[in-house]
Amino acid sequence: MKNRFKVIDVYPRGFCKGVFNAIELAKKARIDHPDEKISILGELVHNKEVSKALKSLHIDTIETKNKKRIDLLDEVDSGLVIFSAHGISPMVIEKARTKGLGTINASCEDVLVTQDQIKAYLNENYDVLYVGQIGHPEAEAVLGLDLTRLHLVEIGQVIPTLNSDKIFVTNQTTMSIFDIKETLSKIKEKYPHAIISDETCSATRLRQEAILKLPQTVDGIIIIGDKSSNNTKMLAKIAANKLIKMIIPIQNLKELDASLLDECHEVAITAGASTPKFIIDEVVSFVKAYAIDDTVSKEAYSINPFI
Ligand code: SF4
Repeated sequence: MKNRFKVIDVYPRGFCKGVFNAIELAKKARIDHPDEKISILGELVHNKEVSKALKSLHIDTIETKNKKRIDLLDEVDSGLVIFSAHGISPMVIEKARTKGLGTINASCEDVLVTQDQIKAYLNENYDVLYVGQIGHPEAEAVLGLDLTRLHLVEIGQVIPTLNSDKIFVTNQTTMSIFDIKETLSKIKEKYPHAIISDETCSATRLRQEAILKLPQTVDGIIIIGDKSSNNTKMLAKIAANKLIKMIIPIQNLKELDASLLDECHEVAITAGASTPKFIIDEVVSFVKAYAIDDTVSKEAYSINPFI
């Protein structure tokens, strides 16, 4: 890095309550069952360092790209299986029980609230439009609730035509707040009678809003998080919406090409909801070594850092 710049800490960043709880549940499972084989179906949360740390407790992550949870379960024959923070479909829970496996559900509460709402409307014979991403484990879990009356709507795709006057609309918790707003209003235009519930979780919303509240003078932003983390990817999308000139998504300090900051005058640092603190701290202390002033009021751009 040739120049020095202002550094702005953006809060909230890093672990949300759902990620924190899921990790605590996994750790507790190992304490309660010291000798049992424990597997996690898919990544517990979307971060490789977390999976590595759990591996050190002999908790294995069963993950094959593009394989659904129900098929991954074929690779677990004994012991306890933990379902990830993204939620799980009832079919997978049933299959695990049929196989005689013990189960621990680490689904985030916010995900469960959305699922409960969907179930309630399905019970009332509604069709459900679910705005989410095909292949994402949260969407996969939701779509498993009903194979005929749940319809996935992807961002930018055509809204399905339904022959029903009972329509409920909701969404994956970790999408861009702009994409969700736009898609939900398109759905409302097509189905004025639809009941709509925006279920973007507070962790996702507050991390995105914190970026939007940054001063216009910010010309660089470092976004720390795993490539597989949807809420991290959405932070980059929000930064692009805000027209921040230099957007630098990295998984850890090793990936930071410091020369990208050469032209920047004000650099903000944020992180996705599944990024461990030690990874964030490494990046922050490296970048702050180049700060001309890191005393920019955190209060001005931060919300509650514990959300
Ligand atoms: S990002 Fe939101 S939905 Fe996902 S674990 Fe965190 S709080 Fe829960």
